[in-house]
Amino acid sequence: MKLIAPDYYPEFRCIADKCRHSCCIGWEIDIDPDTREQYRRVPGAFGERLNAAIDDSGEYPVFRLCADGRCAMLNPSGLCDLITQLGESALCQICADHPRFRNFWGQSKVGHSPTSDSDCLQSPSVASTRPCAEGWPRTKVGQSPTSDSDCLQSPSVASTRPCAEGWPRTEGGLGLCCEEAARLILTRETPMELLTLEDDGADDALDEEDEALLAIRDTLITLMQEHDTPLQERLDEVLMLGGLPIPEMNWPQIYRELERLDPAWDAALDSLAGAQHALSPALDVPLANFCAYLLYRHLPGAMEDEDVPGRVAFCVLSTRMLMALCAAKPGCTPEDCIDLARMYSAEIEYSEENIAALLDTLWEE
Ligand code: SF4
Repeated sequence: MKLIAPDYYPEFRCIADKCRHSCCIGWEIDIDPDTREQYRRVPGAFGERLNAAIDDSGEYPVFRLCADGRCAMLNPSGLCDLITQLGESALCQICADHPRFRNFWGQSKVGHSPTSDSDCLQSPSVASTRPCAEGWPRTKVGQSPTSDSDCLQSPSVASTRPCAEGWPRTEGGLGLCCEEAARLILTRETPMELLTLEDDGADDALDEEDEALLAIRDTLITLMQEHDTPLQERLDEVLMLGGLPIPEMNWPQIYRELERLDPAWDAALDSLAGAQHALSPALDVPLANFCAYLLYRHLPGAMEDEDVPGRVAFCVLSTRMLMALCAAKPGCTPEDCIDLARMYSAEIEYSEENIAALLDTLWEE
C-alpha cells in the first residue's frame, strides 16, 4: 500500500478556537464503536459529563448539540474539552480525521467493485461496498446525510485504519470546507506536488484503466498550474481535453435548485444577478489551485462511473462559478475568494447528491 498526498497535506493544523466556521458547530458527529466504548470507561465527573453529551438513541452514537448548534463538548472558548481534559488521542475517528479525505485506487485488485470516488465519504447507495464506509460519519443537522466525509486520517495513523489496508494506492487530501485547509491549499504559490507518505513495499501496480486515469489527471493538474498561461485559457484547454463542453444554461438557477446548507450560500448565489467586476490578478493562484484541488479529489470518481468528461467539466464549471462569485464581489481579495471556495466546497463538493445532479445536468443537451 502506498499513501500519497499533496505536499501541503502534512502541514495542516486545526486552528481550533481561531476558526470562524468551526466543524464543531452544526454537525452531528458519529462516534465509532471503539471510541464509544472508551468513553464509557472515562471516570469521574468528566466521564459523567462526556457520556451525558452522547446521544445513543439513533443508529450510531453522536455528540449532542446545544441549542445554538455547538457540540456539547465545545467549550465557550472554542476549544474541545475532550482535548483539554484527555488529550487529542481521545478524539473519535471522525474528529481526529476531519478535514482529511481519502480516495482508493486499484479496487479490481482487492476484490471490490470499482466504487469510484473519493473519500470514505459516500452516498448511501455505495456505503455498503466500501471497507470503511460504515454509516454516515457526520451529518449536517437538518440535512439528508449527503455531505462531508472522511474516513481519512493523519498520515501517522493511516496504517492503523482498516480502510487503508489492501489498496495498492491510497490518496489522501484535505477537504476545502475547512477554512484552514482552504487557506493552505489556495494560497500555495508553487504547483502542487504529490508525496509518498507511506510505502509498505507491497505490489502497488494498478490496472491499465486506473493508470490511464492517473495520467490524465496528472496532465490536467499540471496544465491548470501553468501560471504563465491566462487562467481562462487553461480552463478552456482542460475542458477541451476532458471532451465535454459545458452547455449554455442558467447555472445560477440550477445551483439554486440544489440542496443547500447555509443561508449565506443563498446570498452568494443571489449576488450573481448583479454586476460582474474585473478580477484581480491576485486571484489567479487561488482559482487555479481550486481547480487543481477538484481534479485531484474528484477525477478518481471516474473509476466508478467512468465519467471522466463529466467530472472534468464539473471541475471547470465549479471554477467558473467561483470566478463569477468573486467577480460579483467588488474588490474581491484572495481572502474573499478563499471564503467563497470554502462555502462552495461545503455546499457542493461535499454533497454526493449535488455533484450527481450537476453531472447529470452537464450531460443534458
Ligand atoms: S473547520 Fe478546520 S480549522 Fe476549523 S475547527 Fe474544523 S478542522 Fe479545525
